Amino acid sequence: MARYTGSSCRLCRRENLKLFLKGDRCYGDKCAFERRAYAPGQHGQRRSGKASDYRLQLREKQKVKRIYGALEGQFRAYYNRAEKQKGITGTNLLLLLECRLDNTVFRMGFASSRKQARQLVKHNHFLVNKKKVNIPSCQIKVGDVVEIKEKSRKVKLFADAMETVVRVGIPNWLEIDKDNFKGTLKAIPNREDLTMPIHEQLIVELYSK
Ligand code: SF4
Repeated sequence: MARYTGSSCRLCRRENLKLFLKGDRCYGDKCAFERRAYAPGQHGQRRSGKASDYRLQLREKQKVKRIYGALEGQFRAYYNRAEKQKGITGTNLLLLLECRLDNTVFRMGFASSRKQARQLVKHNHFLVNKKKVNIPSCQIKVGDVVEIKEKSRKVKLFADAMETVVRVGIPNWLEIDKDNFKGTLKAIPNREDLTMPIHEQLIVELYSK
């Protein structure tokens, strides 16, 4: 499956926001956004002026896509699905993205970034309800148990990732059993639980044109 292979830090600088795409590095002084908080490229420091509505909508869409590591086609498919569900389309979209397996693994602290979580899932390190699942986009439902496979539990990377999450905190919609390397989705999060500065209504406006 296609994936973005360019610089992650460049994406933060483009969106003018720390997207926390690189795990531990994002919390230290090596963070590229802390050092160069302007858009990448030759004219990055010169951009200014009032942004058009279209530009604001486009940037918002790009930002959310990048936070969750989705590519355009996949993101559009999530939007179409969100639109068909009951409730507010923008909120539905965010919740669909939140309940992806790779995001859940990251939120549970089994990986230090969504990108790493995606790779670990693909490399067969996880079970969902005791069954092997290696599809990062798999949707996790309330009550589902995600656990690290017994054979993989000694991998140092998991211990390092847990340290990062202890610092950032486990979200209240998840329950973690650290000793048994597993976590449960207790409930679907509320919109207010998602604290990244996202204006999903702008994405709805963009796709409704
Ligand atoms: Fe973004 Fe993390 Fe890179 Fe900082 S270190 S620019 S937060 S990806």
